[in-house]
Amino acid sequence: MAVDSSCIFCSIINGDIPSDRVYEDDEFVAFRDIAPAAPVHVLIVPRKHVASIADLGDDDAAYLGRLFLVANKIAQTEGIAGDGYRVISNVGEKGGQSVFHLHVHLLGGRQMTGF
Ligand code: AMP
Repeated sequence: MAVDSSCIFCSIINGDIPSDRVYEDDEFVAFRDIAPAAPVHVLIVPRKHVASIADLGDDDAAYLGRLFLVANKIAQTEGIAGDGYRVISNVGEKGGQSVFHLHVHLLGGRQMTGF
């Protein structure tokens, strides 16, 4: 599905819901998390609506590699690449996912502990 009109991240990507964008290109939009868990907490979201990692298909393989390149690029512009950072993606209810549009959290600016 390219766009899901009931999806909050699709609405942010479309500009219908405001966000604090830090990066965008043809494939991804990245914006600051509304409830940051670290000094730097950016969500990197593919424009294409896929619910989670569990819903990926073979066609999604190529842009997932680019997603990690974008994560590192944003880490550099946010000034956290040198000290280190965390990239995570929650999958499904027990994975702690609350927005069902695939995204990764880029977290940094403090010491990460545990999982
Ligand atoms: P997850 O729980 O892994 O699905 O992550 C969803 C994230 O989206 C949470 O960290 C929320 O704080 C964040 N979030 C929800 N609504 C918004 C919004 N309108 N703008 C920015 N971040 C949001």
